[in-house]
Amino acid sequence: MAHIEGIDLIKQYGAGEAAVLAVRDISFDIQSGEFVSIMGESGSGKSTLLSIIGALNTPTSGKLLVDGADVYHLGQEERADFRRQSLGFVFQNFHLIPYLTLAENVMLPLATLKTGKKKKATMAEEALDRVGLLKKANRLPSQISGGEQERVAIARAIVNRPPILLADEPTGNLDSKTGAEIMRLLSNLNDEGATVVMVTHSVEYARYAGRMLLLSDGQLVQESQSTTESGARGKGQGSSEKCLNVLGA
Ligand code: ADP
Ligand code: MG
Repeated sequence: MAHIEGIDLIKQYGAGEAAVLAVRDISFDIQSGEFVSIMGESGSGKSTLLSIIGALNTPTSGKLLVDGADVYHLGQEERADFRRQSLGFVFQNFHLIPYLTLAENVMLPLATLKTGKKKKATMAEEALDRVGLLKKANRLPSQISGGEQERVAIARAIVNRPPILLADEPTGNLDSKTGAEIMRLLSNLNDEGATVVMVTHSVEYARYAGRMLLLSDGQLVQESQSTTESGARGKGQGSSEKCLNVLGA
């Protein structure tokens, strides 16, 4: 299960004259198994909102509930456990460690898991296989393409099979063919039950999601209704599609 609820979320960075209100009273409800995209101009608060959902950025006020648990009121260790067990995060610009092999990068989230080395290696292999990179497991990040690096970042995010997958502009620096491959991968993971929340600049890729949240200047200005048929993958016009029509895209 992975039902995510944001209630009256506010995030202010800094104080006084330097204060920036990055998220201004946003509430949302993401059902278990949904694929939601977050869109909006640069600086509109997308990454901030995603990092709040990812239990990485304490909101100034408001609540984040995941399956009813109030994430920012968990103790530090509980929150770390929650993050390890329930969340996979695909960061903008991959964040791969350059001197570790792909397999070692993918194994990083398993570091604190009380499981044998062999089992961890198997889990990493499975995740790399999932993204089609098992054969390159022993390479360094510099020895593969940008699209492949993004796939490694996804493998690292799914290695512990989290019910929730968060991705910040996973196609940001990729050509359209590679970007479409990444989107298919996220769609497949969603089809298998993962709740996916993805920040994107791309109208084309937002169509893969069943629903879109549009941010402007820290506010949620448009939220398309959830439907059973998701955008680019469904036959009919999905809800993201309708929202994009509103945008004139
Ligand atoms: P987006 O991902 O939509 O580009 P961000 O969430 O990164 O937007 O940023 C929203 C606003 O918050 C911007 O004005 C940005 O400059 C500001 N901001 C983001 N992170 C920080 C930070 N750590 N400290 C101060 N201001 C920040
Ligand atoms: Mg961002």
